[in-house]
Amino acid sequence: MDFGSIHIRDACDDRPHESGRGTAPTEAVGAAGAVGFLGHAGPAGSVASMGGGVRALDTEAVHAGRDDLARLGLHAAPIDLSTTYPSYDSRGEAARIDAFATDGAEPDGPPVYGRLGNPTVARFETALARLEGTESAVAFASGMAALSAVLLVRNSLGLRHVVAVRPLYGCSDHLLTAGLLGSEVTWVDPAGIEDALRPDTGLVLVESPANPTLAELDLRAIAHACGSVPLLADNTFATPVLQRPAEQGARLVLHSATKYLGGHGDVMAGVVACDEEFAGRLRQVRFATGGVLHPLAGYLLLRGLSTLPVRVRAASANAAELVRRLAADPRVARVHYPRLGGAMIAFEVHGDPHEVIAAVRLITPAVSLGSVDTLIQHPASISHRVVDAEDRRGSGVSDRLLRLSVGLEDVADLWRDLDEALGSGRG
Ligand code: PLP
Repeated sequence: MDFGSIHIRDACDDRPHESGRGTAPTEAVGAAGAVGFLGHAGPAGSVASMGGGVRALDTEAVHAGRDDLARLGLHAAPIDLSTTYPSYDSRGEAARIDAFATDGAEPDGPPVYGRLGNPTVARFETALARLEGTESAVAFASGMAALSAVLLVRNSLGLRHVVAVRPLYGCSDHLLTAGLLGSEVTWVDPAGIEDALRPDTGLVLVESPANPTLAELDLRAIAHACGSVPLLADNTFATPVLQRPAEQGARLVLHSATKYLGGHGDVMAGVVACDEEFAGRLRQVRFATGGVLHPLAGYLLLRGLSTLPVRVRAASANAAELVRRLAADPRVARVHYPRLGGAMIAFEVHGDPHEVIAAVRLITPAVSLGSVDTLIQHPASISHRVVDAEDRRGSGVSDRLLRLSVGLEDVADLWRDLDEALGSGRG
């Protein structure tokens, strides 16, 4: 199975488990990335619309979830802040609650109560499902709330065993390793997934590209290895602009919508795109456990989706140029950048990574990612701190690794800041 992440300046790579990974000269990576994300008709270039026709991804990003607005005499999506919905027909409400308890389908008409659903949030869910090419999507208060809901759905069926591939985002790893929701995890290499499946396996969980190493997985091969066990692919880093895991066989596609989908660092949210049957179970868990998304967040996410393709392509072009410069820099030991492209870079420095973090001025030293501005962080100290140090290092998260979320600034300004910061860290 191909891990996919491309390592540049691999001279100090002596880890045997990575020896099979592809290496490529900087120029080749930059070019491959550019073709992948700058071409508008890439693998994620068009999606089926509800009306049966096919609309391009860029069109869906702007119109999905808003198709009724003109009919309503509106241009911007309305924000419905109601927590409850009046009804003089309590028999009818009882029937709607019974129906929701049966299959978790969204009630026809007003949602009865804010925990059953919200019309503004539903617009975001509709739009994201369209972009990911799934029947449905269910939004949550955060990415971790979304992952928790998936685990609770499976646990409630007695399917508590999870097979997962490292690295994952640190808190996802922690949630599984600590068994906080009663699940039991088996960590495997991608090639070991099939053998690790048990009768009580409820989920296979992967990230591609992975946080923070940007390792890529062959999702189609993994989905095949999963058989009937649902594959959850965390698509936070790629976004549907670069990759649509459902088309490759993932039953569940998860996003920390806090990142690229919101895109401006001011919304905390999570979402799972999936088939309607699983979505119903997720809505029931959301109703019972309360991890709902606030309608204002739903509005901001819908607005964020409309610029998602443009933001991802522009930030990815910046990232490809920074990859080229980092890879040629003697202060940098290795650069990790996915074949898929994208706006996330990881690199290992010869010097002290903490000094680099302390020295950036334009770039913000902060955890999280996917915003319009560029962020840098040290995974071993922050995003992956909760992972046991040996497990962390064993999955390729070295203590010298820095993770850069490239934004929309002018790339020359970004490089000037990085260059000076690398100088402070003495490489
Ligand atoms: N998945 C990935 C890949 C992430 O990077 C994160 C957070 O950084 C999460 C899930 C969790 O999302 P949230 O912080 O919105 O709960």
